[in-house]
Formats: sequence, C-alpha cells, structure tokens
Amino acid sequence: MVKPVFLGKLVLHWCPACNVPVLDKKCACGNPATFVNVTPPADIRPAFPYDIDRINDVSRQQFGKKLIADGEIAVYNKAPYDDRMEEIICGGEIIGTIRFEIDKIKWVLLPRLSGARRIFNKEGKEKDPDIEQNLKNWVMIHESAIPFVAEGSSVLVPGILKTAPNIKREDEVVVVTPDFEVVAAGRAKMSSEEIKTSERGKAIKIRWNQKNETTRNEAAEIIPKDNEKAKEMPPREIWKKVIDANRHVIDKFEADSVLFMQNAAKNMNKKLTCSYSGGKDSLVTLHLTETAFGKNSGNEKEYDIIFSDTGLEFKETLDNVKEIVEIYNKPLKEAGAGNTFWEEYEIYGPPSVDNRWCTQSCKLQPITTVIETNYSKEDGCLTFIGQRQYESKARAKSQRIWKSPSVSGQIGTAPIQEWTAMHVWLYIFDKDLHYNPLYEKGFDRIGCWLCPAASLADFENLKITHPESMEMWEEKLVQAGVEKEIENPELWVKYGLWRYAELPPAMKKLADEKGVRYKK
Ligand code: SF4
Ligand SMILES: [Zn+2]
Repeated sequence: MVKPVFLGKLVLHWCPACNVPVLDKKCACGNPATFVNVTPPADIRPAFPYDIDRINDVSRQQFGKKLIADGEIAVYNKAPYDDRMEEIICGGEIIGTIRFEIDKIKWVLLPRLSGARRIFNKEGKEKDPDIEQNLKNWVMIHESAIPFVAEGSSVLVPGILKTAPNIKREDEVVVVTPDFEVVAAGRAKMSSEEIKTSERGKAIKIRWNQKNETTRNEAAEIIPKDNEKAKEMPPREIWKKVIDANRHVIDKFEADSVLFMQNAAKNMNKKLTCSYSGGKDSLVTLHLTETAFGKNSGNEKEYDIIFSDTGLEFKETLDNVKEIVEIYNKPLKEAGAGNTFWEEYEIYGPPSVDNRWCTQSCKLQPITTVIETNYSKEDGCLTFIGQRQYESKARAKSQRIWKSPSVSGQIGTAPIQEWTAMHVWLYIFDKDLHYNPLYEKGFDRIGCWLCPAASLADFENLKITHPESMEMWEEKLVQAGVEKEIENPELWVKYGLWRYAELPPAMKKLADEKGVRYKK
C-alpha cells in the first residue's frame, strides 16, 4: 500500500449554497464553505469532460448506470496507489474512487455510499419496476442481515436473498435491502453463480458501510439533471460559476505571486527569463511573468522565454510552445537533445524509475546549454519556473528561490510554489490561457512521452492518442526483454514491468502471478 504524504495545506472546501468547490473557508458569495477531507497530498484539479466520460463509461459497465451528470462540477484528487487513482468529489463529498488496476489492465470504479445511492437509491423500485434487470452488480440481503452489514461485517451466503446475474469474483458490488436501499459497498469474493450454489461462505468483503458515514448530503447523493449544452461547452464555461465563487482566491494568489516576482527581480537585478515546457504550471508562470513585467504591468521589463526539448516531447507540446511564443511575443531561447535518447538507448536500453539515465543527457544538458549560450557566467539570469510543492516531496522541501545546482549564475524561483493544480486550472480558465490540448485527452502530466515514471494508465491512454509511437515503443521494449532473457517478454511489457530495474513488492507479486521470470 502506498502511504499518503502531506506536502501542503488541505484547501478543498465546498459552498453548500452555490454547490461548488472553494479553495478557502469562505465562498465569494459570503457563505462559509465546508471542509472536504480528501486524501493528502490533495493536489486537486477539475475533472475534465474526458474524465467524466470515462467515469460514466466504467459506471455503466459495472452497474448499468452513469454516476455524474453532463456539465456537473466534479473534482479529481490524485490519491497514492500503485498506479493512477483519483478520488471523485461531487456535491462536497468524495462519492467514490476510480483507479487503474494493473493486473486487470482496466479502470475500476469503487463507489462510496453516496456514489452508490446516485446509481441505486433514487430510482427506487416504484419508479423503475425493471430496476433488477437494469442495474448490475447488486447483492440483496435479508432484513435480519442489514444491521450487521451496515456495521461493516462481510456479507455471508446465508444472508443473501438474491443477486444480479454475472457477478464475477473481485467485482465491485453494492449491497442493498429488499427495497433497493443502499446498505454497503465492497468487493465480491464469490461469483453470483458460486453464491447461488453454495450454502455458506464469505460472499462480499465490505469496504464502505453506514457506520463510517458522517452526515448525509443530498447534493452528493442525487445525480443532477444533465446540462444539454455541456457536450459543446469548453471546460472554462462549465467552470464559470466555480471561478466566480473563487474570485477572491484567484485574485489573491495572483497578486501574491506577482509581488513576489517583482521583488525577486528588484533584489536580483539579473536578466529575466521564464521557463516554458508546454505544461499547465509553466503556462500560468508565464502569464504571471507577463502580468508582473509586461506592457500593462506599470513595471515593464524585458524577459525571454526558455524552452529545452528533450527530444521526447509530444507533437502537441512542440506546437503549443510555438503558439505560446507567438501569443506572448517574446524572444525564445531554446536548445534540444535531438536524437540523444535513441543514440544512448543503443547502449543503456530502456530507462527505468530506478535508473533514469536519460535525465542528464536529455533534460539537464539542454537546459544548461540554453543558459550558458544566452547568458554570461558573470551576469547569469533569474528564471521563473512552474514548480509546485504539491507535486513531490523534493519540491515541497525546495525553497522559493534557489541557486541552480547545475548552471552557474542561474537563480531559479517558484512563483506558484503554494498553488494546487486546482488554483492553476482556475487561473487558466479565468484568463482563458492557451493550454496544451492533451489535458483534455486524459493526460494529467505532460513531459517525455515514454517516461518510465508515467503510470500504466497513461501508457494505455497513449495507445489511443498516439498509437504509432506506442507500437514502435512496445516493439523496442519486447526486443529489450528478449535481450535480457526475460521469460514472457510480451507480458513484461504489457504489465509495465519494464519500468523497474528492481521490482517493488507489488510488481514482484504481479510478475510471479503472470509468469514473467527474470534470468538471475
Ligand atoms: S522525464 Fe523521464 S524520459 Fe524524460 S529525461 Fe527524465 S527520466 Fe528520462
Ligand atoms: Zn457560495
């Protein structure tokens, strides 16, 4: 199990009056907002229409009905797990979790009680006489078993009245009363067939039960009406009311960052630069640089945009960099690693999370080249960088201003160090900034496309968005597996085991289960 880690304050609140997320104790409408207790580090962000479509597809497959309305405001919170896992927050509550289960190579939805009630309860037997056929993965228990299951006890076979057909072992299931009221949610340890033909046994292991439930909240339990126009609306329009509710937060974060940047520039008296990568954090940092030093700032100063190309950038990222440079109309200073990755690949083979040999040659070297060829050693430069404390332990520990360890004369600064991804997105929507389109296709981080630090869920997504690149990469990886004399190299690639030089315990278990063996 991966442990949660605190990297910054937990800032997610919800205004019950406006029914929107607020990054403060108070909503702009004047009402107090309720704290939402999400799992740290709590780098919350908006769920994009793409994310909501995925949640609803998975919900329909598993339970026969969608979970979230078109145009509904939903927040994602990336929680620690072996692969990607997101808590889903609607109506001020975590209504469930969606996670990518590596052994099944698929996304699985784990509803909490409020999420389960969205799918099951409100239809009710009266409203939908065919509810038993229309919904999937439910287990109906006897009245006498309800108090025990509601307290968290497992569902035993004798306590079961009937079940939906086709439940398989390890499916997520919802436990209901004879009136289809939700009692609990958990995981099937027996299939519906096994339940039917057995007299005893533990059928369902309960994950969520009424005992751990705090107060109930209608806004989280009822799917609102679909917004008919939502499919054609850009996310910034859907999120307009959230921006209004957070107006004071957005303005304050902007003002603090701009003041910090202006002070840093005054104290340092160096050539100003802003590092741009094609990602959301550097986009906000660039816009803040323009706000602090552009024509309308009242404090005009020249600055350069710097970009270093690892040679493994998405085409969408390279296009976005070009477009952004045109929009901001500032000199671009760039350097690239060119074909270095593929040349060194011939020597070292695929990089892994514990052997990132490419960092030096593809990432650090081009950055050093940009700085050294454009700024003198004596004068150096001051670089605004879109680094945030919520991203990692190392970044949480970092100062807001530091001397570059690799390039003499360069001072790095992090104007958005204390922003969560939600602050970043609200700012992007509010200012209508030109962000990388990949964020609307299920990516939540944008860097080298084949990075071993990416999740298997991201690689599965790549098969859809960039099939040719993935085909080429998988072929190369299988070849590398053959050269390493790994038994079942295709499975070594399929389950993402190539990403580790030394397998962590969960991956070691998976390798054993799937028959992937390494030559000692
Ligand atoms: S981000 Fe990943 S792929 Fe890119 S240089 Fe670093 S380790 Fe290598
Ligand atoms: Zn409000």
